Amino acid sequence: MTANTRLPVTRRALVVPELDELSRVLQEGLKICFETAEVNVVDCPDLTQQPFTLAAPGLCGSPRLADVGGVPYLVPLAQKEKKYNLDTVAEHVDLPGAFMLGAGAGPFDTIGTNSEMITNIRTKSADQEGDNQTRISLIIPEDGSFCLKNSPCRDFQLLGNFLATEGKPGKVLEVKCQARRGPDNFVSVMRYILHKHYGKDKFLGLGGVFLIEEGKAKIHIMPDFSKTPLNSEEDVNKWLRFFEFNAPLICCSVFVSHDPGMDLRIEHTHCFSHHGQGGHYHYDVTPKTVSYRGYFVPAEWMYRIDPPQETHNIGRD
Ligand SMILES: [Zn+2]
Repeated sequence: MTANTRLPVTRRALVVPELDELSRVLQEGLKICFETAEVNVVDCPDLTQQPFTLAAPGLCGSPRLADVGGVPYLVPLAQKEKKYNLDTVAEHVDLPGAFMLGAGAGPFDTIGTNSEMITNIRTKSADQEGDNQTRISLIIPEDGSFCLKNSPCRDFQLLGNFLATEGKPGKVLEVKCQARRGPDNFVSVMRYILHKHYGKDKFLGLGGVFLIEEGKAKIHIMPDFSKTPLNSEEDVNKWLRFFEFNAPLICCSVFVSHDPGMDLRIEHTHCFSHHGQGGHYHYDVTPKTVSYRGYFVPAEWMYRIDPPQETHNIGRD
């Protein structure tokens, strides 16, 4: 996909409740699932600073979500011709030069193998060069070890889930939770709470960044593409490489309350760190000691870009 390629795009308006209301709804639900939970409306801290080191200071300004491609391009067998570019995605969501964060599959051509992409970029536009802080987490084919590094380019493949905004300072939701009581991960819990409160008729989507400040998390890293078809969840899990990585982990996350028939991935979170670990977040494995602190905004639009013609639900966890 070059800058001139136009991909199929549909979009749908998201319901955007007042931040005060969202804050109350989330806090009420999170208090059931965590020993302590506090949600406030705050001025977004400068996210370019440690530990976040994002490519923009804030999450505000025309927030929108993008779901690009999909898992059906990865399994049963990878469709390696499905190539995308982050600058171009920003154009496809009508926000050229956007700050974007989120989760996707890294560029096979450039990296030389399949990989996890932890997106963190100020995209390029007519009047700015941009700033690419995107990380790649991969399994080195030669020895099977893992490696986290800066992405050498702005391309990705197969699938991606992103928040795109103007990257401005402004009001955001601050979500702080400690000691998990329930079986569900931090993001799923917020998703369930929103779906339960707002129901099927109201379609909400949030994006942002959260820190796992204490504890460890179960993370996967995709190894190189499977040569045999992955036909079930079990096949996918045998192929993926799983790790328990240590806090502090910086997690770039997008999620929606439910799928209103756009063939969406309803949550997707990738994390990086400053100690060489990163990948796809599943859940923390230290419920008693885990501590989360996150900043989120509700998005105004969901863009569905280049959805698979033939779809399935394998491997969306
Ligand atoms: Zn992922």
